[in-house]
Amino acid sequence: MTSETGVPNWGLHTTAVHAGQPAEGFDVAPALHLSSTFHFPSAAEAARAYQAEDRPIYTRWGNPTSAVLEAKVAALEGGQAALATASGMAAISTALLTLLKPGDHLVAAHSLYGGTHLLVTEDLPRLGIETTLVEATDPQAFADAIRPNTRALYLESPGNPTLALTDLHAVAEIARAQRLKTLIDNTFATPFNQRPLEWGIDIVVHSATKYLGGHGDALGGVIVADAEFIEAARRGPLRRFGGAISPFNAWLIARGAQTLPLRMQWHNGSALRIAGFLAGRSEVAWVRYPWHESHPQQELAKRQMGSGGGGVLVFELRGGTKAGAQMLDRVRLCLRTASLGDTRTLMTHPASTTHHRLAPDARRAAGISDGLMRLSVGLEDPEDLIADLDAALAGPP
Ligand code: PLP
Repeated sequence: MTSETGVPNWGLHTTAVHAGQPAEGFDVAPALHLSSTFHFPSAAEAARAYQAEDRPIYTRWGNPTSAVLEAKVAALEGGQAALATASGMAAISTALLTLLKPGDHLVAAHSLYGGTHLLVTEDLPRLGIETTLVEATDPQAFADAIRPNTRALYLESPGNPTLALTDLHAVAEIARAQRLKTLIDNTFATPFNQRPLEWGIDIVVHSATKYLGGHGDALGGVIVADAEFIEAARRGPLRRFGGAISPFNAWLIARGAQTLPLRMQWHNGSALRIAGFLAGRSEVAWVRYPWHESHPQQELAKRQMGSGGGGVLVFELRGGTKAGAQMLDRVRLCLRTASLGDTRTLMTHPASTTHHRLAPDARRAAGISDGLMRLSVGLEDPEDLIADLDAALAGPP
């Protein structure tokens, strides 16, 4: 049995391991094609290949190792096709530049990764593309912001860093009724916890730097959509703006993605446990984690993020920024850094790092208070992490 997209109807673990592996040859692991260009046996074959584009030509256009990653992530998301890019930001900008032209309008959620926030509020307007930001948790706010020149709705769910959720089905219905495209950044949830295309979303983007790669060693991004969109993105903005992935990074990320379901199970379990631990501490004003009762949208999280709440949680310390800085300085196992989706647990203070370039008003609108802390729970033993957090909260004796 194969699915509509031509991939066998495997479970997610089997898909993660096998999808995208080339059938030919004797290698168990995919070959690493570290070649910027590919040669032709004759002038006629070169001319034919440039016409047909049915074989490797030049790595900025595509590469057999990158194709392994693309096929794997397309299968994991249940999409027709995928395009691997140099970073998550390259995936987002390539997808948006494929869709939008000067004079168009985009509706986007307030709660976005800082880089995406600046892309849609500063860079797109410079290209003549307007953006309206709306409350991510309110589908009606997306509907109300639509204008005659709106082309697409863009969201992150869970959003970075507030973990605000958007009802994907509701927003997809609003967009369909008006023939608009929907895009989601699925970096936080990953296809293990959330498959947006099944809720009617059209285009999924990822920072593959995070959970897909999973080991904090390679930058990359992926766009998943229908074959027509992916072809337009590959032939257009990818080639000309040049955000192609390095084959070595594609190889590392495809290797990491084989264990995505296993890793996500552990991330989900540990993060939920740690959310419970932090919620019980007097130093902590509040905790938010999609699958924990602390989250105002827990019911939506359980419906939409079927397998778990992911590896990221946020919390606010009663002592605000000062207490946050103290806690960051006291942790020994958790690393003080602004990324996520790593094997290691990473702790961030978004207001002074990932979102520091946002104006204070924009930060507040994005739900980022000065005392907000973000924890990307890694693959360590949760008991060790709890002991580290406990000591950091308690402070010196
Ligand atoms: N999307 C989200 C949700 C992110 O958290 C990030 C980076 O932190 C990005 C996109 C950008 O990804 P990259 O750093 O791979 O460009």
